[in-house]
Amino acid sequence: MNEKVLSKLKILAESAKYDVSCSSSGTVRRNKAGMLGNTVGGWGICHSFADDGRCISLLKIMLTNYCIYDCAYCINRRTNDIPRATFSVSELVELTMEFYRRNYIEGLFVSSGVVRDADYTMERLVRVAKDLRTVHRFNGYIHLKSIPGASRELVNEAGLYADRMSVNIEIPTEENLKRLAPEKDHQSVFAPMRYIQQGVLQSAEERKHFRHAPRFVPAGQSTQMIVGATSETDQDILQLSSALYRRSTMKRVYYSGYIPVNAYDTRLPALKQPPLVRENRLYQADWLLRYYHFTVDEIVDSAHPNLSLDFDPKLGWALRHPEYFPVDVNTADYEMLLRVPGIGVKSARLIVASRRFSRLGTYQLKQMGVVLKRARYFITCRELPVQTIHELTPQGIVQLLAPKKKKSEDERQLCFDFSE
Ligand code: SF4
Repeated sequence: MNEKVLSKLKILAESAKYDVSCSSSGTVRRNKAGMLGNTVGGWGICHSFADDGRCISLLKIMLTNYCIYDCAYCINRRTNDIPRATFSVSELVELTMEFYRRNYIEGLFVSSGVVRDADYTMERLVRVAKDLRTVHRFNGYIHLKSIPGASRELVNEAGLYADRMSVNIEIPTEENLKRLAPEKDHQSVFAPMRYIQQGVLQSAEERKHFRHAPRFVPAGQSTQMIVGATSETDQDILQLSSALYRRSTMKRVYYSGYIPVNAYDTRLPALKQPPLVRENRLYQADWLLRYYHFTVDEIVDSAHPNLSLDFDPKLGWALRHPEYFPVDVNTADYEMLLRVPGIGVKSARLIVASRRFSRLGTYQLKQMGVVLKRARYFITCRELPVQTIHELTPQGIVQLLAPKKKKSEDERQLCFDFSE
C-alpha cells in the first residue's frame, strides 16, 4: 500500500468511526468456485479499530469526508477544520481487496460525506460496490450507506450489489433534525428507505417466478439514531423504531449515544461524556420489541417517557406490574415466561420443551440458563419460593438488585412510580 493511500485510510477510517449502523449479520453466502470471499464469519477475522469498543470486523471507511452539509452533530461537517481526504473508486476497491486477501476484514462498510449533490456521491458509492462484485468477483459482505436524497435509480442499482443498505435517520423528529441539520429533512431519508423496501419486495416476487432473478439487499436495511443530542424522550425514539420494524426489510435500528465532537456548537447539549447507559437501555428495549413481544406502550408511557438507567426495561416492567407475578414455570405459557426477568428466549423455549417430561425445579432452571438471581422473585417452581415480589414488594427488590456503583447525578433518571 503506498503512502498516499495509507494517509487517506487513516483520515477516512477515523472519520467513519462514529457511524454505528453496521453489522455483518443477516446474510449467509458461502465460498463459490471462481469467486473470492464469503459472508460467513469464521476464523481469522480481524477486528477493526474501535476506540470506544464498538464492532467491527469490516473495513469501515468513508469514500470521502468532504461534505457540503453542516450537520451540527457530525465531525465531518463542512465548517470543521479537520484533515480531509477522498478515495478514488479504484483506490477504495483495491484497498478492500487487499485487506480481504490478507484476512484483515470480512467485508466492507462504506459511507460518504456529500460532495456536489446526493446523486453524484451515491453514484460513486455504487461504482465501488459494482466494481468489487463484477470486476473483482468479490463475494464478501458489503454494507453500503445510502446518501439521503439519492435517486430511486441509484438506490436500485446499489441494492443489486450490497448485502445491506442503511439510511441514517440521525435525529428522531423532523423539527430537531431541521434545527441541527438545516439542509436535511426526513423525506430525504425515508424516500431511499422506501426504495429499498420496494426493491426487496419486488426481488422476492421475481424470484418466486425466476429462480435466478437477482437478489436485492439480501440482508435488509438498517438505520441509526443519535441519542442525547436533542430533546426526544425514549418513548419518541422507541415509537419511531417500532414503526420502522413494521417494515419487513428493516433489520436493525442502531442507537448511537451522542458523542460531543462539536462542543462549541451551542445548539448541542454540553455533555461530559456520551450517554452510554441510556444507549444500552435503548438496545435492551429494542430487543424486547423484536424478540419478547413487548409493545412500546408497555415499556415506556407518558408517565414514564424515559427508561430507567438503573434497571433494564424488562425488570422495570415487572416491578411496575407485580399483579402478573409470581409465574409458575411449570404451567405458564411461553409468552408469560418471556416476561420474567432472568428468563431469555432460549431458556423460555427450553422450559416449555422440558416440563413435559418432569416438573422443573431450581436446579433444572439453572441448567437452562435462567438467571435465578433475578428470576427467583418472580417465579414459583417445584421447590417453594423463598420470597416473591409480593412478600418483598417492588421497592424491596429494587434495593436487592440495585447496582452497587453510584452513578453521576445527570446519569440518573430513575422514574419508577410504584403507586400504580
Ligand atoms: S451529511 Fe453526513 S457527513 Fe455530511 S455533515 Fe451531515 S452527517 Fe456529516
